[in-house]
Amino acid sequence: MDPSITLQEISRQVSDCIRCNLHYSRKNAVPGEGPSTATILFIGEGPGFHENEQGRPFVGQAGKLLEDLLGKIDLKREQVFITNVVKCRPPSNRDPMPDELAACAEYLNRQIETLNPPVIVTLGRFSMAKFLPFARISDAHGKPVKLNGRLIVPMYHPAAALHQPSLKPTLEKDFLQLPELIRQGAVTREEKRADEPEQNETLLSEDLPSESGAEQLSLF
Ligand code: URA
Ligand code: SF4
Repeated sequence: MDPSITLQEISRQVSDCIRCNLHYSRKNAVPGEGPSTATILFIGEGPGFHENEQGRPFVGQAGKLLEDLLGKIDLKREQVFITNVVKCRPPSNRDPMPDELAACAEYLNRQIETLNPPVIVTLGRFSMAKFLPFARISDAHGKPVKLNGRLIVPMYHPAAALHQPSLKPTLEKDFLQLPELIRQGAVTREEKRADEPEQNETLLSEDLPSESGAEQLSLF
């Protein structure tokens, strides 16, 4: 199945979903967006006011900061996939509850399976906890962890940096690592594919340097 069709199908299911109580108060579900060929996936917490209005992720102030940070590494938001751990807005922007996270997890799991991104950036505590349940963000931010053949890179949530400006330089510094991590992740994926000849989708850009990679990965 074409990954872009699978992603559209997931979005359609999210838009109609009534699996948890968050569906009662939402205006629009926010499935997430980006190209099916994205090699980096950003996972935030959940839609806020503007996202709920528009049905799109990170379109408010935090989204503006995310776009600025992407700009510093020469990426546009259209080049990356952006989603959240819960797809409907928690009322008054409260934290998502365990039953809501559990009910919504299948959608994110299917998005990850479909995109198969070599690099996942978690924005904030709730998305970090999906992969690294015992990590503390103050220790773990900016330190890539290899998990199931991908790099998980925990970062502070852009909204946290808006709230607490002293976190902004930290977030920027963590972002500046991403181009190299994307290169490394792509090389790892290429090596994996060499081990599994049945997987033949072409998701890598062609001009990746072949000399970087495995050795450097072991540093993390
Ligand atoms: N904050 C999030 O975590 N996600 C969004 O989509 C917007 C703001
Ligand atoms: Fe469904 Fe997730 Fe929305 Fe809950 S938050 S209604 S599980 S899409």
